[in-house]
Amino acid sequence: MIEFRIVEIFESLQGEGYNTGMPAIFIRFAGCNLNCAWCDTNFRQFTRFTLEALIAKVSEYKSKNIIITGGEPTRVKALPQLLLPLKNAGYFIAIESNGLGKVDALIDYIALSPKFCYQSHYQKIVQPTANEVRIVTENHRDFIAFCQYIETQIQAKRYYLSPCEKDGAFNIFDTIKLLGKINENRLDNKWLLNIQSHKLADIE
Ligand code: SF4
Repeated sequence: MIEFRIVEIFESLQGEGYNTGMPAIFIRFAGCNLNCAWCDTNFRQFTRFTLEALIAKVSEYKSKNIIITGGEPTRVKALPQLLLPLKNAGYFIAIESNGLGKVDALIDYIALSPKFCYQSHYQKIVQPTANEVRIVTENHRDFIAFCQYIETQIQAKRYYLSPCEKDGAFNIFDTIKLLGKINENRLDNKWLLNIQSHKLADIE
């Protein structure tokens, strides 16, 4: 029997990145291979769903967009068995990953969020393409070099810096200063600001 460990499943609006505002069903899987200090997900508490129960739960919602997130969803071994029926049912499927696992080819939209605090983990890149890359800002002298390295290793349409939220405060000033430095002396202004607007809007 195929089983999934689900932290939560709910319908809301995408709060960040290029698809901000997109209605979507969020499926948050348990488990992660990292342990970021600012992590806002309790990915160790979950409910078990069979494949059939999870698909039935998804079908209760109105949206035809799904955002697969975590935790780290690329670690879910049975994910392809879930993706196939969802694709056949016509869903658009996006994923949010820390970039340390290969993303299944059935995924329509890939958002990768490599973590500076685990930069040594990204010496070998296993997912070299994405629709967007979002990196949480850390005020460290090697941070810009890490962003530049990621840009050379992961081909994406868009690159973002995300202010880090701690106790309700965002390091926006640090983030825009770093954006200015990363985009300095280049004409494409490729790195953009990503705000986790769902936190400001107080939605899930
Ligand atoms: S990679 Fe994401 S889910 Fe995992 S610990 Fe870091 S912030 Fe949390």
